[in-house]
Amino acid sequence: MAEIDMMVCRSCENEERASEGYPCEDCGTFICLICAFRGIALCRDCRRKRGLPTPENLPPRASRPAS
Ligand SMILES: [Zn+2]
Ligand SMILES: [Zn+2]
Repeated sequence: MAEIDMMVCRSCENEERASEGYPCEDCGTFICLICAFRGIALCRDCRRKRGLPTPENLPPRASRPAS
């Protein structure tokens, strides 16, 4: 079984590779590459703390492939 460092993105809640993500601008929690690529630099909690709306370009939650 291959061990991949998957982490749940605190912005879009998708599981992505931790090694490819970025830290949240405010709290340093994991933000996935897809969010970062779309210019989303804050996690959901920090968006809420700042009173920011959910970004329109937030990646949709991916359905997990059947294992
Ligand atoms: Zn994400
Ligand atoms: Zn944050």
